Amino acid sequence: MQGEMEDKCGIVGFHCSDDSKNMASFVYYCLYALQHRGQESAGIATFDSEKGLNYYCGMGLITDVFRDYEIHNLTGNKAIGHVRYSTTGQSKLENSQPFVTDFGDGFIAMAHNGDIVNSEELRNELINEGFYFKSDSDSEVICYMLKKAHYDNNKDVLDAIESVCKKLVGSYALTILVDGELYGVRDPMGIKPLAIAKRDDEFILASETVAFDVINADYIRDIVPGEVVYFKNDEINSHMLESAGKCKLSHCMFEYVYFARPDSTIDGINVYETRMNIGRQLHKLYPIDADLVIPVPDSSIPAAIGYSRASGIPYGEGLIKNRYVGRTFIMPTQEERELAVRVKLNPIKEAIKGKKIVLIDDSIVRGTTSKQLLNLVKEAEPAEIHFLVGCPPVMAPCYYGVAMATKKELIAANYSVEEIQKQLDIDSLGYITLPALVEAIGMPKENLCLGCLNEEYPTEIPEGLEAETYYKP
Ligand code: AMP
Repeated sequence: MQGEMEDKCGIVGFHCSDDSKNMASFVYYCLYALQHRGQESAGIATFDSEKGLNYYCGMGLITDVFRDYEIHNLTGNKAIGHVRYSTTGQSKLENSQPFVTDFGDGFIAMAHNGDIVNSEELRNELINEGFYFKSDSDSEVICYMLKKAHYDNNKDVLDAIESVCKKLVGSYALTILVDGELYGVRDPMGIKPLAIAKRDDEFILASETVAFDVINADYIRDIVPGEVVYFKNDEINSHMLESAGKCKLSHCMFEYVYFARPDSTIDGINVYETRMNIGRQLHKLYPIDADLVIPVPDSSIPAAIGYSRASGIPYGEGLIKNRYVGRTFIMPTQEERELAVRVKLNPIKEAIKGKKIVLIDDSIVRGTTSKQLLNLVKEAEPAEIHFLVGCPPVMAPCYYGVAMATKKELIAANYSVEEIQKQLDIDSLGYITLPALVEAIGMPKENLCLGCLNEEYPTEIPEGLEAETYYKP
């Protein structure tokens, strides 16, 4: 079976009660703050009570896609936005979001973060009913299901959302514009984050709270798993899906480990604090006698600070990241691939030479990054290298939107820790344990999705469903 699109993306929604105002520039800034959630494509759809729907999508970073001209044309006081994550496959404009479809006298625009594991079956049902798909994305499947359900349910939007969600298996956080009104939906397991904030006469929905900070909006709360929010009478209205409270909560642990920005708080837990705790836990597990604790920038900085504070070993930068490197091309030769890594990261030889170092990274997935990285570090001639990892061994694919890799690509699914240490040719290798990670996050283990670590997935996985690999040179 063809691999599904994996969508580990960032979404935004705006409802403003004043229809003389335009929200597109604020959506832009929120998407800018969520750029780490996806660099493949970006898009904004707005609703203007006079002109109707406007939308614009493009490939690349938010700053590549939108100039003043596009933002200026996106008029309207209701709006949604999306940044899409890059995977190895299907990098094309048709997969960019928001998806838009019309139905005679109206339209639906939808932005989706997540992955629907039964989308193949749902897509085939729609194709049999005459729907034509322009993309291979499961988000388009949801969009057309909504369109059909909207018609079947006499245009009652909540009934339509309810009937669609009943059929969806997988993860989804959605911002939707229907009939010029904004809706936000979070799947009943709460796999993907979605929160709400207020600023003057506006309500804002976003994947991460950092989007609220940049526009100076006040965070109100996270959307409850299985909740639909909408804004009739300019207040937050809430509808709980029938499945809400009936499924196991399954918040993605990888948001805390790697994916979310450290200055975001998800489901009441601050990401920076969690990563500092990961460093403290690593020290408890591996109290190494060393001269320097070094992070692999940027995602491992808080964990390295946590380890340093717990151990008393000085924290120091030993690798410098070129912050202007965005996407690098897929390089055809090994030499070029190595060059791409060097452009991204460079060791400070003077800081590392002759020292016993603890090097901390957030995770090892396929192991290619670690190998290249450690080769660079070795060139700086440290006396000892102890490599600690803030995520337990990734043993299995993710089917809910974090494009990890297929099982045969995952290094920990194929080799023991000792074998990996040997391959990396370092003095020691230590992964955080699952109980220590759960303690660092500070949420009951039952409320987390740990499928990529223990293969206990919160839903059934259709036979033959292929996982995707994320893009990295
Ligand atoms: P590798 O082991 O070569 O697959 O690379 C692992 C590194 O890539 C980690 O240290 C993270 O910084 C980053 N990473 C891990 N998972 C992902 C993902 N799903 N998408 C993008 N980057 C990731």
